[in-house]
Amino acid sequence: MKFTHKINGKLLPLLLIVLLGLTACVSQSPGVDESRVMHWLEDKSGTMTLHEVSKKDLSSQWKIADKVSPNFGFTDTTVWLSLPFVNPNAVATSMLLEMAFPLHDKIDVFLLDGDKVVKGYLSGDEYPFRQRPIEHRNYLFPYTLEPNQALRAIVRVQTSDAMYLPVKVWQANAFFQQDQHQLLLIGLFFGFLSIMLVYNLLLYFSTHHKSYLYYVGYTASVIYLQLIQKGVGFQYFWPGETLFNHLSVPVANYCLLISSLFFILHFLNLKPSHHPATIKIFRSFIWISLAAFAATAAVVMTDTYLISYQALIITTVVLGVTITVTTLVLLARLSFKGNRSAQLLLIAWVSLLVGICLFALGRVGVPMPMWLSENAMMIGSTFEAALISFALANHIKSERDARMSAQQLALRNERQAREAQNSLLKLQKDTTNQLEREVQERTQKLESAMHELTAANHKLDNLARLDSLTGLSNRWNFEQAFNTAWAGNQRLKQPMSLLMADIDHFKQINDTYGHMFGDKCLTKVAKVLKLCVGQSGNLAARFGGEEFIIMLPNTGSKNAAVVGERVRANIEKITMMHEGKPVQFTISVGIATVIPTVDIAGACLNEHADQALYQAKESGRNRVVAIDLSSKAMRETA
Ligand code: GH3
Ligand code: MG
Ligand code: MG
Repeated sequence: MKFTHKINGKLLPLLLIVLLGLTACVSQSPGVDESRVMHWLEDKSGTMTLHEVSKKDLSSQWKIADKVSPNFGFTDTTVWLSLPFVNPNAVATSMLLEMAFPLHDKIDVFLLDGDKVVKGYLSGDEYPFRQRPIEHRNYLFPYTLEPNQALRAIVRVQTSDAMYLPVKVWQANAFFQQDQHQLLLIGLFFGFLSIMLVYNLLLYFSTHHKSYLYYVGYTASVIYLQLIQKGVGFQYFWPGETLFNHLSVPVANYCLLISSLFFILHFLNLKPSHHPATIKIFRSFIWISLAAFAATAAVVMTDTYLISYQALIITTVVLGVTITVTTLVLLARLSFKGNRSAQLLLIAWVSLLVGICLFALGRVGVPMPMWLSENAMMIGSTFEAALISFALANHIKSERDARMSAQQLALRNERQAREAQNSLLKLQKDTTNQLEREVQERTQKLESAMHELTAANHKLDNLARLDSLTGLSNRWNFEQAFNTAWAGNQRLKQPMSLLMADIDHFKQINDTYGHMFGDKCLTKVAKVLKLCVGQSGNLAARFGGEEFIIMLPNTGSKNAAVVGERVRANIEKITMMHEGKPVQFTISVGIATVIPTVDIAGACLNEHADQALYQAKESGRNRVVAIDLSSKAMRETA
């Protein structure tokens, strides 16, 4: 695209200079006798013969043509021309009569020597191209004149196209010399347009941008129209197709009209919300042109000729002029509003219109160099094609720039979004980590608190169950265990024994060695009791002060007495040391045994054990007294 941009930017002025220079060169070609006097005669009925127009009494109706190339516009009448056909040289010279407009239907040429016809030609585009006396895009009629021979050429022209009559008499070599320049110019013109066409077609295939395709259509239409206008199409492409050639002018005009409308509408790329009216006008122009084209095609296909060929051409011209003028106004309005595409299109169209105007002004006889009026349209359309191509490249470039900046913006936005997402993710991760750490810390704290609580509970439980000084069960805990065991033994009908032990003369120990020493003695006694209690289910507890109690479930009186004795004996063996001196003490034990029944309360066993203890004290202390409630037997050991 950039390439096209550059090429167009440099090529445009260069191209114009080359075209103008070449066209100017053509004008300098000698050979045409501009000073000859030409007469013309109007034959309204179209039925007059050579004999009739040559009559002397008609000489007053022959008028002098005041223009080199008379133009009668679209007319039904047949026109006769009379002009000198003279050899100015002193040698025999090959001469040419040229009708430099390739669209005339029928041309009769008569070369007269006085009243005698020395040569006659019949030509026109009603006849196949190959029938022409000289195969040339314009009509050429040759004749070799003797030295200084002067003949008169009578030309009869009948046409449904414009009655434009650029008749020239040439010396053949001069004609072909200037024709080379003309051919070069035409070649350059078609070459340039063909390159534009192929290049833009390739651009369309690579970019799929429809503007290029419409532009290709438009360029093809320009080429088609100019092939007809210059007579090159009939010469090289469809030499036998007289009907096709005949109808090509309106067809090419429609193609040009429709393709340019499509191109402009697509190229301007107007927003429906901003320019609803402009879009509507363009769309209706397209529909009108298509309808007119279809109608023309129908007329031609059915060969009815309900509408005359001239009417078709005039319709095309009127439609073309209306659409062109309206388009120019719309483009001017859009340009004024600052639409860059419209500005470029406007310049291109104005350059074409200037060409057309110069061409038309030349046709109607406004004085200007022949080369300018004849080639103005070609130069105008070349310049227009180049300008539009430039506009197209510019347009595509700006679209591409807009797309790229949009892409960049999208990329930037995406990057920003990604960055924001990343920082959010990081924040989320940090927060999660922080939360996890806090949860872990709290869990640890909670676990240690739970630990501490469990320990405290355990401690509390122990405190509630154990005696703080001796570590034995306290009285409350003992009573719980006793009740359970009592119920068990009651169910199993097993004997149960209860031992009560009281340190002898403990008050004295306290008084003699101090309360602290007394505590040590209590602790020592507790240890001994624990050892003596033995198997599980048996339980020793501190009953209060220096009194202890032992529960022996499933134990009869005899075995209980053994335990009581073991306790008593082990205590007796204890030697405590106080300030280096040995201290000994004893203990008295009372035992009660019973097989629990529903009739006996647990407290009863307690009372009896207490009784037995009392008896042990009474009978001298340091002994065991056992009461078996089942047999009511009482046993005493010392
Ligand atoms: P007996 O042989 O008749 O049992 O005479 P005793 O002196 O042992 O009996 P008494 O009931 O007269 O005295 C019990 C003493 O036990 C009184 C009290 O100071 C002491 N005592 C009670 N509880 C504790 C204690 O926890 N620590 C200490 N060191 N002495 C205690
Ligand atoms: Mg006591
Ligand atoms: Mg005591």
